[in-house]
Amino acid sequence: MNINMNFYGFINRQILILILLTLAIGPLYIYMSWFYTLDISIPLIWFGVVILLSAYGCKLRRDYTKGNLSLQEKDEWFIKARVFLYTIFSMWTLMFLISIESSIIELHYIAIATQLGAAIISATLLVSQKKLSTFTLISLMIPLVVYFLIVGGLYAYLLAFFSVILCVVLIYAANNTNKYLQQNRFQAFHDYLTQLGNRHFFMELLEDTIQTQMKTQEYTSLMLVDLDNFKIVNDSLGHDIGDELLIEVADRIYELSSKNNSYVARLGGDEFCILSASYDSFEKCVQESEQFSKHLLKAVKEIYVIKEYELYISASIGITIIDNLHDDANIFLKEADIAMYEAKIHGKDGIMVFNQELADEIKKKLEIERLLHFALEKEEVHLVYQPQLNVLGKVIGCEVLLRWQNNLLGKVSPEHFIPVSESNGLIIEIGDYVLENSFKTLREWYDAGIILEQFSVNISIRQFFHPGFVKQVKALIHQYLNDTLCSKLIFEITETSVADSIDELIAIMLELKKLGIRFSMDDFGTGYSSLSYLKRLPLDELKIDKSFLANFDEVNDKKMIKTILSIAEILNLTVVAEGVESKEQQEFLAANGCDVLQGFYFSKPILKEEFIKFIS
Ligand code: C2E
Ligand code: MG
Ligand code: MG
Repeated sequence: MNINMNFYGFINRQILILILLTLAIGPLYIYMSWFYTLDISIPLIWFGVVILLSAYGCKLRRDYTKGNLSLQEKDEWFIKARVFLYTIFSMWTLMFLISIESSIIELHYIAIATQLGAAIISATLLVSQKKLSTFTLISLMIPLVVYFLIVGGLYAYLLAFFSVILCVVLIYAANNTNKYLQQNRFQAFHDYLTQLGNRHFFMELLEDTIQTQMKTQEYTSLMLVDLDNFKIVNDSLGHDIGDELLIEVADRIYELSSKNNSYVARLGGDEFCILSASYDSFEKCVQESEQFSKHLLKAVKEIYVIKEYELYISASIGITIIDNLHDDANIFLKEADIAMYEAKIHGKDGIMVFNQELADEIKKKLEIERLLHFALEKEEVHLVYQPQLNVLGKVIGCEVLLRWQNNLLGKVSPEHFIPVSESNGLIIEIGDYVLENSFKTLREWYDAGIILEQFSVNISIRQFFHPGFVKQVKALIHQYLNDTLCSKLIFEITETSVADSIDELIAIMLELKKLGIRFSMDDFGTGYSSLSYLKRLPLDELKIDKSFLANFDEVNDKKMIKTILSIAEILNLTVVAEGVESKEQQEFLAANGCDVLQGFYFSKPILKEEFIKFIS
């Protein structure tokens, strides 16, 4: 970005001061020249010049303040402003030259005084523009020096000398102040670590671009780049290495962006923002920015050698198109953020383009989040129980599942609200509710003489790692259960969440196993965990994910089910198939050694009263 751009507003304000000065000094000249010459023509010329210049200055100011100018228009405006400034100072020199032509000595004094005044004013007002202020100063002072030299005599020579010194001092002072201003400006608009533009810089640029686009009807894309797991580098290798990595990443992004005529800034932390060149169609803009983002991801992912470490990092990129539909820079930034966040959710190291469905989804999530806060308090949630049967068709257990019915949202699937509650921490409260109420049911059934072989409860990994979890489980067991009932409990954890902190996970599992609780790996086959994890975890059961049964007619999925069954056999784990919906599936599973079946074919998840009826 042209650093001048940030000074345009400043120059614009100075123009007003110059107009006021011209209007103040102009009449003095008009009056004096009239008074001493009694010739109407010179004062009339002055009058014309002063009025014309002031009017033009006012127009320039209005163009700038009211015009919502684009970047290019601002550059054009600045050229005009410069011409205006040169003209106004040339006018003063002209006034000076004409006045010293006069034989009236008082006019000379006024001319000298105003010329000196003009020099000091130009050095002060134009300090933001080094070239402009130096040039103006010199062109104002030379006539003065020449004048003194022509007048001759000791005092005049001394005054000429004094004028030269004054000119040098003013230039020096103006340049010094200018340097300081530029430095300050640079710091205010740049990031100290990477030397890229900062958020402030980017927001100005973005707002300018939006204004331009509104006029040109072109399209630009806004790309938000966030490094994946950067925190790990910082936490494990220290902030110095983290900083060095950021600098190198910034260099790579900057290099690619410059080649692509794009601007890049660091918004903070490990977040960078890029503004592309403009394109005349929306589709082209999307296509080009996706292509560019791919190159960028590739470049970012190449190895970094920092001190003795070889590092690798990926990034997630969210793209939104500045499409002239609205002019709020913050909204565009938020859209890019939503897209970037979505890219993270989809496994990071990827690119996502913002679209309305994404926005609606986020809106829905926010709505869920807002209403979920009151769900427990308003007693909007309850538990249901889905029967689990052995291959002979006997009910041997159940899975406890949570339901939420809200006035505004209707029935919300746990598949939607559980992830939300996990991300905002509400899962701890919700999880406690599930544990307490399911334990109560288990006890009620036991007291009523219903004894199951297993009773499965889903436990979110976030809840699992919560510091008070084991204590809470022990307290609830103490309150509601006995040893026999404890041995019926199965905690289901999902495969997707296991990959992190496996050692800690195993420690907690072992602690709970001491109480007789068993563990099941839920949704097996859909997550990331490797066979070695499976071997290490103290598991008792595997649940084949229902998606394998949903595509049951496909040969590959049948093979997959068989494979999972044989893995379970090797690892000596019981297998539950969830999502059984047909007789054919039931027979296939039974024939291939699956132990327990669960699905709509037998029963949907039902209320506890219905469950009792179902059993009998
Ligand atoms: P999950 O633990 O894998 O639960 C099985 C899901 O499969 C349940 O969906 C159940 O209703 C559904 N299902 C069972 N049989 C069939 C069938 O034959 N066909 C089809 N299409 N679906 C079947 P639900 O109740 O919507 O739960 C979805 C997920 O939400 C659960 O998946 C679990 O991950 C989570 N969840 C539910 N309740 C809780 C809870 O109390 N705590 C936690 N942490 N998560 C829960
Ligand atoms: Mg489950
Ligand atoms: Mg499941």
